[in-house]
Amino acid sequence: MVDPKIMCRNHLLGEHAEIHLFVWNIDRKHSVKGYIAKGLLETHNLYTRHEELAQELKRRGYQHNSELDAKWKLAKKAGSIDKKRNLEQLIDRCTKCRERHRNFFGDGDDI
Ligand SMILES: [Zn+2]
Ligand SMILES: [Zn+2]
Repeated sequence: MVDPKIMCRNHLLGEHAEIHLFVWNIDRKHSVKGYIAKGLLETHNLYTRHEELAQELKRRGYQHNSELDAKWKLAKKAGSIDKKRNLEQLIDRCTKCRERHRNFFGDGDDI
């Protein structure tokens, strides 16, 4: 759930694939409670988030032909992701994302 433009290729493709996996699982009535409990999923934002990621994928010239069903716009509210913490962890763990983040936002410690 961080700004897609700072995400490296792996993380961008990874989160995009994750969204499709969540949707696949929810459609099959598989429980995603664990992800919600851990703050890894906001079902009501799957659609918008997928759109953001898909746009960024296209902008970078990657193929994208896996649209989400419009019903996901109306997904019920569940889960809450700590976006600031996610960003901190991402740029802490991934040198490529860190690099991109620095290029976009400079070196300030206010991330
Ligand atoms: Zn997709
Ligand atoms: Zn990364």
